[in-house]
Amino acid sequence: MDIRDGFLSAIGDTPLIRLSWPSARTGCHIYGKAEFMNPGGSVKDRAALALVRDGEASGLLKPGGTIVEGTAGNTGIGLTLVGNALGYRTVIVMPETQSQEKKDTLRMCGADLRLVPAKPFKDPGNYVHVSRRLAEEIGGFWANQFDNVANRDGHRRTTGPEIVRQLGGRLDAFTCAVGTGGTLAGVSSALKAHDPAIRTVLADPHGSALHAWITEGEPRAEGTSITEGIGQGRVTANLEGAPIDDAVRIADADALETLFHLVQHDGLVLGGSSGINVTAAMRVAEALGPGHTVVTILCDLGARYQSKIFNPAFLRDKGLPVPPWMPADPSA
Ligand code: PMP
Repeated sequence: MDIRDGFLSAIGDTPLIRLSWPSARTGCHIYGKAEFMNPGGSVKDRAALALVRDGEASGLLKPGGTIVEGTAGNTGIGLTLVGNALGYRTVIVMPETQSQEKKDTLRMCGADLRLVPAKPFKDPGNYVHVSRRLAEEIGGFWANQFDNVANRDGHRRTTGPEIVRQLGGRLDAFTCAVGTGGTLAGVSSALKAHDPAIRTVLADPHGSALHAWITEGEPRAEGTSITEGIGQGRVTANLEGAPIDDAVRIADADALETLFHLVQHDGLVLGGSSGINVTAAMRVAEALGPGHTVVTILCDLGARYQSKIFNPAFLRDKGLPVPPWMPADPSA
């Protein structure tokens, strides 16, 4: 019997799901690590727990203290719930462009949510800098998910070894997208330590600078994406020195088509970054040829983005594909 002792020990040890439509389409075995099954609903529960434990160990986070973080949402949800379980208050700074569902979830969990206008990283008004200054002002613990390598170390110690164990060590490639880089860097390090021949591939949306960083050596961004929580304009501390072999760039339209197939054929209703990840896994599988095993991350559920990527009006407005089974007029 699998009984977990409280919220914190319910984080991790997620199932690995063989994805039927992507596997059939490519002739490969494509697996998704079901990170949406973490108790806070996303892959970021792992980073949240690792960052809080690091803050406690360093003495920067004191009993009854306040956690402060800038986040696209999921790290904030994870930090708030970990904070609740351990007796910390949480202040979350988030760009106002993120989905209403994530804002509502943060407030529901008890976060003190501060919304700020979306600004580029070089602008002092960017949510990351606002959160750092706020932590200083109120004497809180700044989790610093982008540049605190406790994030990738958490994935190197847990997510990566879980995948190796679940597949008996037999896999050919791993791919996932980057927000902080914690997942890609941490899992890739663990997989390479097990078997250096495992191919590690960045899945990058348009608008992110990292595809150029991997393939040309310099970060350079082009285009935009509606996906939330991923895409990065700089090489974060979590990404520095990460053993990444290659990169694929995935368009929003292709990621959405994959997401819609996963709903209809696999029974999985996933968020946008999972669409980028599974599409990338299929590209990597096609390049390797039939019979290979490719693993990716299922980061969170589609319910967190119902008003966007499962909203025909929003999608049509952006010129993106619409789920073929959904009515054109949702009030009909
Ligand atoms: N997908 C979603 C939905 C996320 O919220 C995030 C984190 N912002 C990621 C993927 C990327 O994970 P990481 O920060 O480990 O690169």
